[in-house]
Amino acid sequence: MNFMETLIRKIDKNKIDEKVIAEAGKFLREGKLVAFPTETVYGLGADALKEEAARKTYAAKGRPSDNPLIVHIADYEDLKKIAVNIPPETDMLAAHFWPGPLTMIFEKSDIVPYGTTGGLDTVAVRMPADPVARALIRAAGGFVSAPSANTSGRPSPTTAQHVEEDLNGKIDMILDGGTVDIGLESTILDMTVIPPMILRPGAITTEMFEEVIGPVGVDETLLSDKSTQAPKAPGMKYRHYAPKAKLMIVEGDLREEILAIRQLAYEADRKGHPVGVIATNETLPFYNHGIIKNIGTRENEKTIARNLYSILREFDEENVDTIYSESFAIQGIGTAIMNRLEKAAGHLRIPAKDIVKLQKYRRITFVSGTDSARGPMAAELLRHCDLKQEYVINSRGMVVLFPEPANQKAEAIMKSAQMTLENHSSLQFDGDNIQEDTLILTIDANQKEKILAEYQLSENVYTLNEFIDDNTEIPDPYGKPLTAYGECYEVLDRLIKKLADKLNSLTEEKE
Ligand code: AMP
Ligand code: MG
Repeated sequence: MNFMETLIRKIDKNKIDEKVIAEAGKFLREGKLVAFPTETVYGLGADALKEEAARKTYAAKGRPSDNPLIVHIADYEDLKKIAVNIPPETDMLAAHFWPGPLTMIFEKSDIVPYGTTGGLDTVAVRMPADPVARALIRAAGGFVSAPSANTSGRPSPTTAQHVEEDLNGKIDMILDGGTVDIGLESTILDMTVIPPMILRPGAITTEMFEEVIGPVGVDETLLSDKSTQAPKAPGMKYRHYAPKAKLMIVEGDLREEILAIRQLAYEADRKGHPVGVIATNETLPFYNHGIIKNIGTRENEKTIARNLYSILREFDEENVDTIYSESFAIQGIGTAIMNRLEKAAGHLRIPAKDIVKLQKYRRITFVSGTDSARGPMAAELLRHCDLKQEYVINSRGMVVLFPEPANQKAEAIMKSAQMTLENHSSLQFDGDNIQEDTLILTIDANQKEKILAEYQLSENVYTLNEFIDDNTEIPDPYGKPLTAYGECYEVLDRLIKKLADKLNSLTEEKE
């Protein structure tokens, strides 16, 4: 295709510049392509009644021509000109949801070319609410076909910059009206069947339809990768909305999802694979590995819908090869969010439980007498091991009257091995800190006995020797010269390496 100049015109929906609209409308009447904002996503407009204009639309998007376009109107009376056998519920639905993010499918009239409908005898019609879109449709003669203004397969555009990224040089004009409001494509409702059937979920939800016309059907291929049937909206069969990286949706209850994503991101980082995480406002603080992006707040899922595509595009700018996303409940707008996420992920899902169940321990506490030498040394040695899983590693003492820095000789030995205890401050062992995923490892047997006797703990308390099945005595260097600390270090270093192997064998490697 030849490169053409793409004019970019700013437009303010609260103060519409009629000159810009007239120019864009003229372009459309001449059979040219103009991208414009709607409340859902940016549309790639063309004259819906011209076969040739539809052909250009498919070419610019690189879209398969069996994937029909939606015809946009600005006045309800115009529906009768392009659709026939319009069922009676249409009036009620239009009264509630038009103008707005609802597309309805009807039998087409003769004036609609097959180019626009992808060869079908039905036509998809929407009346958008965005004032720029409405003004443009009127200026263009009333019928504007508009698929999303992206290259086929990429995430739909929610800003004019997204359109430019994909279509600069391939279309005649872009109207830049800023960021869209909803961010997901319209709900598609097939009015040619009884009861009407949802072919694509969107901001108008099942619940909202049911309040107006009673039960509606839902195309069962939505949200299911198992169905062998083709989806009824031809466009839904394509891998869509997809970022360049492999996107995987982690599913479970939110706590498990967080733990699983933490582990997956940790593992990727450890192997040097650049990784992304799609988090929410509420869960953001729990992640610390990879490139983490906040998609919005769970308190108001509309924010998540609005950010979804731009986040997927942002990840294309980052050097990540895998993205892990939390999932959302299938209700209200969440249904549309999950539908788009699932499509972007090509239905790759990971049950959070499968990851989390391999993590018996998430915290490891070493217990020594005063938490000033052997305990902190063991903890620091373990932090320097290559672990397949992330642990919170710390140390405590059985008798700590007040916090003190680590023993100076212990620190000197650690320094000579390129480690340090300089941030250590001794702490008293306290049963309240112990959770069911805490592994307690004591330096000697007395400490273990005392813990078992004094704190109602029966599980997850071992001496280090016992846990790794190695009886090498860990010498107590207290009050002895530096060389004794050195000998103690040698023993601990070996035992902790064994401990790391044991922990790694508990966290089975997954691909
Ligand atoms: P887009 O323009 O990118 O929002 O995509 C339009 C969507 O509407 C695609 O999924 C199409 O398959 C669907 N669609 C358009 N016309 C029809 C129709 N007559 N019957 C069923 N689905 C349609
Ligand atoms: Mg699209």
